[in-house]
Amino acid sequence: MVHNPYHNAVKQLEEAAVLLEPMYEDKKKFHAIVEQLKTPNAVHEAQLVVKMDDGSTQKFQAYRSQHDDVRGPYKGGIRYHHDVNLDEVKALSLWMTWKCATTGIPYGGAKGGIIVDPSKLTHNELERLSRAYAKFVAPYIGTWRDVPAPDVNTNGQIMAWMLDEYESIIGKHEPAVFTGKPLELGGSLGREEATGQGGVYVLEQLAKKLKMVPSKTSIAIQGLGNVGYWFAVCAADMGFLVVALSDSRGGIVSNDMKKGLDVKKVLAYKKEKGSIQGFSGTRDITNDELLSLPVDILVPAALENVITDENVKNIRAKAIIEMANGPVTPEADGMLWERGIFSVPDVLSNAGGVTVSYFEWVQNLHGYSWSKEEVFKKLKPLMVDAFNHMWSLHTTRKVHLRMATYIGAVKRVVDAHILRGR
Ligand code: GLU
Repeated sequence: MVHNPYHNAVKQLEEAAVLLEPMYEDKKKFHAIVEQLKTPNAVHEAQLVVKMDDGSTQKFQAYRSQHDDVRGPYKGGIRYHHDVNLDEVKALSLWMTWKCATTGIPYGGAKGGIIVDPSKLTHNELERLSRAYAKFVAPYIGTWRDVPAPDVNTNGQIMAWMLDEYESIIGKHEPAVFTGKPLELGGSLGREEATGQGGVYVLEQLAKKLKMVPSKTSIAIQGLGNVGYWFAVCAADMGFLVVALSDSRGGIVSNDMKKGLDVKKVLAYKKEKGSIQGFSGTRDITNDELLSLPVDILVPAALENVITDENVKNIRAKAIIEMANGPVTPEADGMLWERGIFSVPDVLSNAGGVTVSYFEWVQNLHGYSWSKEEVFKKLKPLMVDAFNHMWSLHTTRKVHLRMATYIGAVKRVVDAHILRGR
């Protein structure tokens, strides 16, 4: 079965709408808003023409989907990946709208992407591609309009090139138009580790609810990009046992499930060997095997649709924390719930990244520079409040954690539509 992330995103919205409908007197207005929320407000597309180092030119398909902006400027990352497609970008923009509403930060949702395998480009080609993307989106973005950021395979350097290109077009400084920038150009301390750290604040709350003690709680993490890596480091720092890790080439699991891996050493090993496999005290596993390990907490932190109706029966974890965007399909969600496996949804558990992006934007608007301690002191209560809000809706409405989160988030967006009278 082919899993289309946009169909998944619409299905999730429809499921939440069924539960929200009784709360609205004007049913016609409610349904009209939900209908509108199924489609992004605007989707911009372009073929970026980039000069390659050998003098030839290549075309790259690029997108920016702007879903909804009733709660504030559009917000969301830009991903560079060979599997990027229009429906994926649209789905990711819907999820950004719910994500910003979940922690209550004043943004709507957007997402961008380029169909490209960035590992095949040289540094200079990557710079020219990033500048071409900034030029393409320049008419549609802005500090109070749409604020892009990094996502899969993009980083501070790419934001720096885009900011430079954008500022040269508008002829003035405008640092708040991109977040996830390097510190030297107005980036925020803590942004680098924010998504992983935010997920670990969620992990702490979930462990308390499920009466799990960190030193006895085993965790398997799929994906070792920025999100998976920092989740692993922060979870290990909190005393949790990270027993299995993987990247796109494959994974490893500790020979002793009662002992956690030294995550920083695993990463140093990967830098040296190019892969994490073969790390001492572990055995090699595939990405599929990692998903079915008998651990307490499973953390998909790579791409979407890894837990589906086809492999959900193999899951042996007690709970899941979604750190990737869209790793569990709606069918699998229902099946996990029936099996009593808690799954904290992406729009809550990975919201730490965009929340610190918001702090970066606030600092840029005011010319402030906050310490890392200050950033995390502000992040933690937002994540904990969002978790508690979800948990109380989960217990009162007797729905799974994604539905509980969606009821809260979609309601905020619908209410903002009603207030504006759109
Ligand atoms: N790409 C990240 C996400 O999916 C961060 C977005 C942002 O900071 O705007 O949440």
